[in-house]
Amino acid sequence: LYQRSSQLFVAAEQVIPGGVNSPVRAFRAVGGTPIFMKSAKGAYLTDEDNKQYIDYINSWGPMILGHAHEPVVEAIVAKAKLGTSFGTPTELETKIAELAVSMVPNIDKIRFVNSGTEACMSAVRLARGYTKRDKIVKFSGCYHGHSDSFLIAAGSGAVTFGTPNSPGVTAGTAKDTILARYNDLDNVSEIIGQNQGEIAAIIIEPVAGNMGCIPPKQGFLQGLRNLCDANGILLIFDEVMTGFRLAKGGAQELFGIKADIVCFGKVIGGGLPVGAFAASSEIMNYLAPIGPVYQAGTLSGNPLAMAAGYAMLQAINADSGLFQRLEEKTAYLENGLRKVLSEKGIAYTINRVGSMISVHFDADPVYDFQTAAKGDNESFRKFFHGLLERGVYIAPSAYETWFLCDALTYEDLDDTI
Ligand code: PLP
Repeated sequence: LYQRSSQLFVAAEQVIPGGVNSPVRAFRAVGGTPIFMKSAKGAYLTDEDNKQYIDYINSWGPMILGHAHEPVVEAIVAKAKLGTSFGTPTELETKIAELAVSMVPNIDKIRFVNSGTEACMSAVRLARGYTKRDKIVKFSGCYHGHSDSFLIAAGSGAVTFGTPNSPGVTAGTAKDTILARYNDLDNVSEIIGQNQGEIAAIIIEPVAGNMGCIPPKQGFLQGLRNLCDANGILLIFDEVMTGFRLAKGGAQELFGIKADIVCFGKVIGGGLPVGAFAASSEIMNYLAPIGPVYQAGTLSGNPLAMAAGYAMLQAINADSGLFQRLEEKTAYLENGLRKVLSEKGIAYTINRVGSMISVHFDADPVYDFQTAAKGDNESFRKFFHGLLERGVYIAPSAYETWFLCDALTYEDLDDTI
């Protein structure tokens, strides 16, 4: 199957040098072949040979209620049976918009697109149009999708994502995009000073998930808010990873900071391709006279995806204890890992914000992919395959090892630890 598939499609690691945390890339690096998954239910994946795995990749984060969550599946099936038409307004899109706007602070209007990438691209375009300025400040290490505007045009000839330890992708020359250092307010202030009246927006992952879950320093987000207010700059929160995960209202609610434009993806689609960007009516109305073509694809807001997303948001909205449970379980995993790793004398760093957690093995050639890739890959290979044999599916990546423990029960966590 792998041989057949590799002749037919291009794996992620061949497209993005340096690599995102792609399991395909990880498998290649350790001399194995990727595992083809047949089905997924709750916290588990089942491969083509019917072997089960606890899923610590969680499809990169959308499935906080577990795979094949019944109400979401039922909504998709019901809508598919009714038939769908694309590009026409639907009540469903209105309903999910109403619900999203009621859950997230500081937004009045939302527009649906097909991915987190499109959401970020659209947010930047909107900010440029609304402010009549061109320049965008983004943070080195934050990831805002695979569009040219972020991987190439936004790269400023420097690194677009990765970690402090592992630089990640080196992008092409940027036009009008300036890289700032995450958690360094002085640096942002200096950049604004050098580009007075020219910066449209600052875009940020409010918790830098793509660097391995780096939380914002105390006062950093508020400081950005103040700088934006003082200089007529829009603050864009890329909540593709944090939205509907850290709290109902995402990072805005968790940290109590208002963003001007918010981007969504992942959870909002309930497993189908949905992205969205949202803002106040004042900002969003900038789009109205330009018309829908300004930012709409053939399948934007398509009823099947809207049905999945609406069912997902309804389930999240109805469950008042959800975010606390997610956080508790992740904290439970964190404590278990700390205990075991310390007992074994393995050097590690764990970062956690709510249910976002990353474990980094500090320069350990056995556990750390980045270190292993430089030297002794054999020991890492054994470690990785040991996990797979025991039915633990993780993505050792170009940087931190990720553990997304959402949708697992405490018993599952015990087994894993
Ligand atoms: N922004 C952030 C913070 C992300 O984590 C991602 C994806 O991982 C994206 C944007 C891009 O979203 P998508 O993969 O849906 O295009």
